[in-house]
Amino acid sequence: MKRKLSLAALLLALFVFTSCSKEQEPATQKKAAETTEQKAAKDDCADVHWSHQPGEDGPENWKNLCDGFADCGGTVQSPIDIVTGKAVKGDKLAAIEFNYGKSKVDIINNGHTVQFNVSGNNTVKLNGKEYKLLQFHYHALSEHTIDGKHFPIEVHFVHKYSDNDFAVLGVMFTEGKANELFKKYLDHFPTTKGEYQSDEMIDLLSLFPENKTYYYYDGSLTTPPCSEVVSWYVLKAPVSASKEQVKQFSSILNNNYRPIQPLNGREVLLFEE
Ligand SMILES: [Zn+2]
Repeated sequence: MKRKLSLAALLLALFVFTSCSKEQEPATQKKAAETTEQKAAKDDCADVHWSHQPGEDGPENWKNLCDGFADCGGTVQSPIDIVTGKAVKGDKLAAIEFNYGKSKVDIINNGHTVQFNVSGNNTVKLNGKEYKLLQFHYHALSEHTIDGKHFPIEVHFVHKYSDNDFAVLGVMFTEGKANELFKKYLDHFPTTKGEYQSDEMIDLLSLFPENKTYYYYDGSLTTPPCSEVVSWYVLKAPVSASKEQVKQFSSILNNNYRPIQPLNGREVLLFEE
């Protein structure tokens, strides 16, 4: 098991630097039932080029680009449109327990997103399980929509419990007050593939809105291989960035969002803080 995990970690590290790597949520095995062959097929897809833009290698065709991308045509895919009027109060859900500290970050543009790789042991407790924060990254426009509406930017905090159990916390951006993190780093964000290392410590919890009310549903990675291994927590309250910051960042991210996917009978739950 240990060996498997370190292999996964190695692959994850490789993907970050591979020319057309998986954007963000790391390569994972599908649920426990996945066979070794399926795993191998997924790994073989590491160099397959895919894009967020419509076309031959665009989102509609991801499932056909590589055998290991078959999940992209699955039935519990992300992102989705969150219809607030249909969200059901989740009686068994609890507040997200953050055990975040300050962390050094590596900022990487991997050709699909700008990603902050986080060091240290930052965790969240969700439904009694402790998930470790691996990285956070950005999409513009937002991937999830709320009542059919996109936000200008969405950030995804990617947490891992095991190879087939990830939790991603999504936070929306609205235009308003300038964003402190962007103030510090936006001018350093690599506009093409590249990396920027910072010596400063980031207070991770300060990147979240004060109110942690969230929508919950079961879904997938939003980029190939689209593995259906993600518990999604989309926060209701947004954070802000100035109009200029949104404009500058959006031009780097270049519409790196996947179109919304069908719910296929899934329930969206609401936990109100
Ligand atoms: Zn994402």
